[in-house]
Amino acid sequence: MNHDLPENNIAQPARRRPEWLKVKAPGGESYSALKNMMRSKKLHTVCEEAHCPNIGECWLSGTATFLILGDTCTRSCSFCAITTGRPGALNSD
Ligand code: SF4
Repeated sequence: MNHDLPENNIAQPARRRPEWLKVKAPGGESYSALKNMMRSKKLHTVCEEAHCPNIGECWLSGTATFLILGDTCTRSCSFCAITTGRPGALNSD
């Protein structure tokens, strides 16, 4: 039995993904402004370090989640892309 075909053995037309499943590519004025601010202030965010798929939507609306004290997390959650390790020296600035 071939499990790739439906039971009636008739090929089905490709269906479009629902709108709620689609993620827009990051961009826009607010996104760019936030990204520039992160770079100019040398800030680190969960959004970028974890490669969060919601970054386009969140940053476009001016929302971000910060990592404090650098870009390294002391946890090592297997599902997360943030660098794991001991944080570096504190930058008091
Ligand atoms: S604020 Fe938005 S982009 Fe940032 S980590 Fe949370 S869900 Fe992801």
